[in-house]
Amino acid sequence: MQTQLRIAVQKSGRLSDDSIQLIRECGIKFYNGAGKLKTEATNFPAELLFLRDDDIPRYVEDGVADIGIIGENVFVETQSQADLVKRLGFSKCRLSLALPKAVDYQGVQQFDGMRIATSYPNLLNKYFAGKGIKADIHEISGSVEIAPSIGLADAVCDIVSSGSTLLSNGLKEVETIFESEAVMIARKELGPLKEAILKKLLFRIESVQKAKGNRYILLNAPNTAIAKITNLLPGIKSPTILPLAEEGWSSLHSVIGEDEFWDIIESLKEAGAQGILVVPIEKMIA
Ligand code: ATP
Ligand code: ZN
Repeated sequence: MQTQLRIAVQKSGRLSDDSIQLIRECGIKFYNGAGKLKTEATNFPAELLFLRDDDIPRYVEDGVADIGIIGENVFVETQSQADLVKRLGFSKCRLSLALPKAVDYQGVQQFDGMRIATSYPNLLNKYFAGKGIKADIHEISGSVEIAPSIGLADAVCDIVSSGSTLLSNGLKEVETIFESEAVMIARKELGPLKEAILKKLLFRIESVQKAKGNRYILLNAPNTAIAKITNLLPGIKSPTILPLAEEGWSSLHSVIGEDEFWDIIESLKEAGAQGILVVPIEKMIA
């Protein structure tokens, strides 16, 4: 049988949709029937395993899966021996300390001696150790945010993205201890065949990521403005310039960073650009 790379992704949760979308954007096709535990890709030597996110680091370490996509928070908390091979840029969140709203916050030393509920005791211990703080850390696995209101803890350390869950539980975020995003992890010593498949996959992920941060831009300009516009739009190598049917005019094509576009749009118009089109790029190999 052909060697397959076993990729573990979260079965259902905040990582699942983006993990699956990333794999599909890499051109890897698979059927993802509801409730399925695993499925084979039809056009790439890979098998997908759908698991609880907390189990993924262990499965990757044990060789049940070869690689996995998980939150960096879980990766670091589980003290996994797997390698972090790629940051993926989605499921961004932070691990923060929060106190009941009414408590006056003076600084991180205030946590000394407090009872703190969290699902991330290792990350929190490490953070406190760095600051010389001794706290009574209570590990609980879910609904950490209700711990203060039921008298189980004085404070919490939990995952936050907008902060609305904390607010609705009468808490305020006071200190960020860890910033997280989805990461790809891999088992050490995959062996040459699987390493080669992983390399192919990483190459595809990189071209998808590059494409996402860039746009293809097309515009018309009088030939007299080409030099100025070329300076504004260096592109990958230099812009493509094609003559328009109308004498003295050209069409310029280039690639531009998504964020840069808004910064130079005014300058492009001032330089004489017209009919500006900005379109997404699917894959980009520089
Ligand atoms: P499972 O049932 O698989 O154990 P879970 O309830 O532990 O799921 P989720 O809530 O789906 O986990 O979160 C998975 C990961 O997504 C977290 O470890 C974190 O990295 C990230 N995450 C959590 N909350 C948010 C959020 N509000 N916004 C963005 N990413 C988040
Ligand atoms: Zn989980």
